[in-house]
Amino acid sequence: MRYGRSVRALEDVSLEVAGDGVLAVLGGNGAGKSTLLRAVSGTLKLHRGAITAGEVTFEGERIDRLDPALIVRRGVVGVPEGRQVFARMTVEENLRAGGLGAKSAAERTAARERVDELFPILADRVTQRAGLLSGGEQQMLAIGRALMSGPQLLLLDEPSLGLAPQMVGRIAGVIREIHAQGTAVVLVEQNATMALQVADHAVALEVGRVALSGPAAELAASDDVQRLYLGGHAESEETAEVEAREAAAHRAGIRKLSRWGA
Ligand code: ATP
Repeated sequence: MRYGRSVRALEDVSLEVAGDGVLAVLGGNGAGKSTLLRAVSGTLKLHRGAITAGEVTFEGERIDRLDPALIVRRGVVGVPEGRQVFARMTVEENLRAGGLGAKSAAERTAARERVDELFPILADRVTQRAGLLSGGEQQMLAIGRALMSGPQLLLLDEPSLGLAPQMVGRIAGVIREIHAQGTAVVLVEQNATMALQVADHAVALEVGRVALSGPAAELAASDDVQRLYLGGHAESEETAEVEAREAAAHRAGIRKLSRWGA
């Protein structure tokens, strides 16, 4: 997969997602994770990219020459990076927009029930403008909107990005539940700890090539993954802990000052 003539973004990458599986795709910035999802969802062209060799098949049929809307109709639906909800529209309108991809009214109703069960917080806020939701709620809405078209394969691009650890845990729980309900998932993540807990298989991309691949539990236990992907995360957790301690000390300081009438 290339962008223009000079940027070779992915090469020799061969992946398979089981019909009932969760595949995690790990890798640092620029490794090619988003490019991979764009190739599967047919949106590479919109980014001036192209598949120059190889193919993408879904349930045995090639989909790499189809328009993105047709790929959605086939059951492959993406949630792009950055929680791209329609900010000026309400939660309800966002979900209805997602439902336009459903094959029938019955499918749309079933999808809506599923979304309401998975995200009760959204069901409580149907009239609220999406732009006013918290980051985590917007991520839930973006996933909910994708589920409204009844996907068989869901492509998630960094759903944990920028979220507090507690919200990351909730998103991980939602992905597990979506999978348990029979939808396969490709989960692109820089948060390897979360991704390896949720996935059954994983690949790590490095500069456009597969560096490691295998069962998620095996990768989580491997020294290379610990050193390259989990070590960095442990460090960031440490930083988060220090920040939390500093914030608590700051709050305690404010309480003290207010007791003194400051
Ligand atoms: P990140 O985690 O930062 O999103 P990524 O693993 O998703 O990174 P990609 O966005 O797929 O990586 O990028 C892979 C390579 O392709 C990088 O070298 C990037 O600079 C390049 N690239 C991505 N999008 C474009 C584009 N629209 N035009 C040109 N080059 C691009």
